[in-house]
Amino acid sequence: MTQCPNCSGELEMHLNNQTGKVEAPLPGDLSVCWFCGSKNIFDKDCRLVMLTSEMEAQLTELERDMIQVAWEVWNVKYSIRGS
Ligand SMILES: [Zn+2]
Repeated sequence: MTQCPNCSGELEMHLNNQTGKVEAPLPGDLSVCWFCGSKNIFDKDCRLVMLTSEMEAQLTELERDMIQVAWEVWNVKYSIRGS
């Protein structure tokens, strides 16, 4: 069980958006909160911390693309739920 550092939402499942499977997160994995869409990263103890703009600037281009895609997928789902 992981808590989102932004909305305190309890995140039980972590969907790997490259494989489409539920997987255990690893330190350094990027995450978009299911509830609030906050961009987070797992720290060395596998706890979620918010991804600051400084941290985001240190990501590789691929990692930035990945979290952007994940966030856009979240945003589309949220729009559908909200309509
Ligand atoms: Zn959240």
